[in-house]
This record gives sequence, structure tokens and C-alpha cells, in this order.
Amino acid sequence: MKFLFILFLSAITPEIKTPGHMEPFPEDKLSKPIYLTDRCSNVSIEEWSNKSKPDIKKLSKLCNVAVNNFEKQGKLFRWQLSFLPDGYCYRCLNDIEYRFIERSSRHYIDAYTTQTYRYSFLPNDLKNKKFDLYFIHELYHALSMFYGIYDKDNEEKAWAFTRNLGLGE
Ligand SMILES: [Zn+2]
Repeated sequence: MKFLFILFLSAITPEIKTPGHMEPFPEDKLSKPIYLTDRCSNVSIEEWSNKSKPDIKKLSKLCNVAVNNFEKQGKLFRWQLSFLPDGYCYRCLNDIEYRFIERSSRHYIDAYTTQTYRYSFLPNDLKNKKFDLYFIHELYHALSMFYGIYDKDNEEKAWAFTRNLGLGE
């Protein structure tokens, strides 16, 4: 009887999983994007998946550190941010089966930046002791893409950037 009941339930509420669509669906997005401040006032949080509110002060501070120390300066940096649960779950940071099916790196990653959609995808746990490192690392990629200086050595340069800022590897 219980088995039949479960079958019935799953028949009326099928979970539709969509492959692709790396950027958030309209229903994933915040009703209004949240903008960071100062030199990051064109950097927006589009998706926020944590119950607690985003720490705008912390994110703005880190973003401004990245912008102020970046090797190239120019027009105001514009980028989009998405904060996701870590893991392989559907639409999560390592959902390489559906959401990130286009991603070239198939291994487990801590964060990801894409030029195509002008997005950085980050873990939603800002209290993780490595969060600052992940965020600034991805912003280095994003800034390189935005200012048109992304190259094959960008990964090494991103690590050097965080190392010089005292964030370690
Ligand atoms: Zn990287």
C-alpha cells in the first residue's frame, strides 16, 4: 500500500530536470539584484541560495580589494554573481549532469567563472574559511575577462594574485 502511494505521488509531482541553462532561471533569481558598493557598484548578486541574508559589507570589501589590486584599470567593472549550495545536487555548484553540463572542467570545483554568461558561481557559505580565497580567485578571472586580458596563464595568475594579497593558495 505504501509503495503504491509513493508511486502515485511521484506520478503527480514529476521532477523536471533541465540540462544546461547555467545562468539562473527567472525563478532562481532574487526579485531584485543586490548591488555591491564603491568600485563594485555594478557587480550584482543575482542568485542567493542561503537562508541568511548576504553579507554585502564583506562581499563589497573583498570585491573592492580585487578591483583595486587588479593589474588593469578602466571602466566600472560589471559582473554577476550566483551563490549556490556546494555539492552535486540539482542546480548546485557541482551539478555537472544538468546545470553545468557545458563546463569544460568535469572534476569537483570550489567555484566557477564564465565569460559567456558573465557570471561567477560561488559557494553560499560565506563563513567558510576559504571563502575569501575562492571569491577573490574568481574575481581575478572575471576582471581578466571583463578587461579583455584573459589568457592561457590566467589560472596561475589568479593564484599569484591571491598569494600576493596574503590569502594563501
Ligand atoms: Zn581558477
